[in-house]
Parts: sequence; structure tokens; C-alpha cells
Amino acid sequence: MEAKLINHVAGYSHSKSENRNPNSTSNSVNISRQILEILMPYRRLISTAECCDVSFCNQCASHHAGKIQRFIEDQAPITFALPAFPSKSPNLSKVFSARPDQAEKMALRFLNRLCQEIGEVYSFGANIILCSDGRVFSDLIGMQESDVTDYQEIIAEMIREDGLDHLTLFSLDEVSHGKSFDEVRAWLLEHFGSSLADFKASVVRGGAGSNESSDLEAHRMYCGITRFLVDDMDRTNINMTKNQIQKDCKTRAAKVIQRSNAWSEFIGEKFPNAVRLSIHPQSCGAKKLGIHLIGTEAWMTPWHGVLVETDGGFRLMKRWQAEELSAKLILDHQSRPSHFKL
Ligand SMILES: [Zn+2]
Repeated sequence: MEAKLINHVAGYSHSKSENRNPNSTSNSVNISRQILEILMPYRRLISTAECCDVSFCNQCASHHAGKIQRFIEDQAPITFALPAFPSKSPNLSKVFSARPDQAEKMALRFLNRLCQEIGEVYSFGANIILCSDGRVFSDLIGMQESDVTDYQEIIAEMIREDGLDHLTLFSLDEVSHGKSFDEVRAWLLEHFGSSLADFKASVVRGGAGSNESSDLEAHRMYCGITRFLVDDMDRTNINMTKNQIQKDCKTRAAKVIQRSNAWSEFIGEKFPNAVRLSIHPQSCGAKKLGIHLIGTEAWMTPWHGVLVETDGGFRLMKRWQAEELSAKLILDHQSRPSHFKL
């Protein structure tokens, strides 16, 4: 039954190459370049110090141009897949509540606008599948399952209400077929997960000065996710020492990455032709195109912070940072916290 699930690939699939018009190749290269030019300024890179051209980097484009060209040659909308919008951080010093707010709304509008811009240079347009990954690791992050469900429903509502026609949603819930959340997570790991021991060994090698890029990446991810988990902990109800918190977060970080990688593999099977976007900073020329959702200066997501309106536009901050700046709280039409104004 599970195998059938995977073979039942939703959405568009490319025609066989022999059915495509060979005369369209140069045109598709051209349009693909224009589409990548639209995306390039919003790249989220690991380090701005990298020798990567801000306006257009051939190395960053290399993994995606071919995929985009195939859609163009098939005269089909470009499909992007972005694992994102999991659920709000459980740490209420960073966010207002478990509900999506103006921060998510802005990010959704931005992504839809990107697709509209692509539509201006390519008449078949573009769509982004938002692969909500909250259920994939909710139990490891300390999210309530009901909060994940509500978050996903409100995101869907926001998309409907705002008429963001270029965005669709996908989540683990869609393939649960009556299984419990734990069962469907176990299913995901069983079919798409890799060994936790292998990952840990790679992290150790990365930390010990290995030259392998996969080891360095594993070590970087592990340190980054550990920091996130420490930062995400709701400290109000725990009684742990600093060392205990570190140890606990390290253990969970390895599992979060294992699940996240399994989700990524699953998305790759489910949407094999889609151009892969990521909310995580990527190195120059990575297989996924890291993308900012709001602003381009900080490594922050709408679900780890609050939206702050400033003279220079909008940016994301942790709630406590906005409060320290005495930013004015703005409520939505139902008197719920929406964002801050500085
Ligand atoms: Zn680059």
C-alpha cells in the first residue's frame, strides 16, 4: 500500500523528451535565465563572504536551470517545492502564539508574488508547493499536534482569503490514511530515512576537520539545529541545568535532521520534477535554492519570530527583541496580535 502511495505522484509530470520540440531549446534557456534572475536576489546563502555573484551566479543556477527548462519545453507551469510553514515555535518569547499571524501572511504573499513575476516572463507561470513539515518533527520540537493542525488550517485559509492562487499545500497528513501521527512518522523513516548512527559519525568527522563537504554540512546542520532547539525551548515549565538542556537538544537535533532529510527524500519522490527551494541558507551551487521569505538580511523565519514594520520596510525579529525596542503592538481585526510597528 505504501509503495502505491509513492508511485501515485501528484501533479504534473514531464512528457518524454522525444515528444518535446527541439527548436524550443534556445528559447527555454533564455526564459530559464530570466526566471532565475527573478529568484537570485532572494537567495539565502550560508555566508555572504562566499564568492557568489549577488545578481546572477552561474554555479547557483546550475542545479536548477535544467529542471526549469524542462517545464518550459513542455509548456507547463514551473513547479517549485518548498518544505516550510511547519507550526509556530513553542517559545512564546519569540512568537505571539501558536497561530500564524502577519509574518506568515507577508511570506505567503511574497512567494505568490514571486510566481506572478515569473508569469510576466513566462506565460505558463509558476506554482509553489508548500510542504508543511510540522508533523514530521512536532514531537521532537515540543509542538502540540493540535497546534500543528490548526496552523496548517489557518495557513490554508490565508491562501484562500488572499487569493494566492500560485500556492498549494502538502503535508504528511495527506498520506496518513488513518494512521496515527507516530505511525506515519515511523512509516516516513522506514521508507525514506537514513541511519542515525551514520549521520552522527559524519557529524563527528565534520567537527574533527574532515574535508568531505557532506561531513562539514552534517556538522553545520547539527550545530545549527541544536542552537535552534535550545532557543525554541519554552523555559517556563522545565527544570534543567544548562548542560542538561544542551545534551537534550543535541540528541533531538540529530533526530530532527534525520526526519527532515527523510521528508526531503519523500518530497523528491512525490514531486520528482519540482525545483527545490529551501528556507535554510545554502552554499553556492547547492542542490536546493535557499530562499528568503521576508527581507534579506536576517536568518529568521515567520514561525520563529514576529513581523516588525519599520521605516525601511518589514523585517522579522524575536518577539522579545521587538518588545525591548518598545515597538507598538498592532492587532488584527479580531483583536489578536498581528505584528509590531517601530
Ligand atoms: Zn553562487
